Formats: sequence, C-alpha cells, structure tokens
Amino acid sequence: MRFATGTGATILAHADSRARLSTSQYVPSLSWRISASPRKAWPSLTFDHPLTLDIGTEELHLLPQAPAHTDGDVAVFLSSANVLVTGDLFTHRSYPVIDESSGGSLRGIIEAVVEKHRKSCAISDRAMAGGLLEI
Ligand SMILES: [Zn+2]
Repeated sequence: MRFATGTGATILAHADSRARLSTSQYVPSLSWRISASPRKAWPSLTFDHPLTLDIGTEELHLLPQAPAHTDGDVAVFLSSANVLVTGDLFTHRSYPVIDESSGGSLRGIIEAVVEKHRKSCAISDRAMAGGLLEI
C-alpha cells in the first residue's frame, strides 16, 4: 500500500488511478483528450492489493483488478450482503466500455467479473441505482 498526501477528504483508489489523474490522457477510440486533474483531486490513499475497510456497520473489501474497463478498476465486495459492486466493470444494458489506452480489455472484464467472482452473489453496476442482478 502506498500513501500520498492530499487535501480535504481522503480519496481511496487503485494505485494506477493516481497516475491517470495526475497526467493528461488521450483515448484514441473516442478521440478524447483529458487534462490532468488538479492535485487536490488525486487519490490520497492508493492500493494495489485487496484492502478491507471497517466502517463500523460493514466491512468493505476493496478488490483492485487487473486492467479491465481501465487499469484503475476496483470492485467492492460487501460480504454481509453477498453483493459485489462493480462500477464500470459490469454493464447489463450496453456493451462494456473498454479504455484500451489505459490497458483495458474484454478479456480483463471477463476475468474480473466472471472468472474471479464465480461464486454466487448479487452484482451491482453504477447504472442500476440500487438494483441488484443475481449471478
Ligand atoms: Zn469508468
């Protein structure tokens, strides 16, 4: 685990997210140029191994992924509810968005969502607004 200095709230993220936010990016498949974020928006706590946070009422298991949607993907497993929160790793209403410029790949998404989390659990992507999909 690496610690970094930020201001304000503690922002936790995959270690590779800090590198993405701190430098300008270009996504050729979308012709997107993205400027570096202001330093205060960079993660102040980064990790590249699983990290468990006890927030008092729940343990959050932060699971950094190998490059899939991007190279900064993290899934969060809520063991008490048996729910895996995937963010952009999983979409059920559209084709997956894959940022190849940051190492993302369809193979990475399959490994992250299907192969690594083969055990039965409910899954939630960010577009589901609280909904769950049983897998
Ligand atoms: Zn995304």
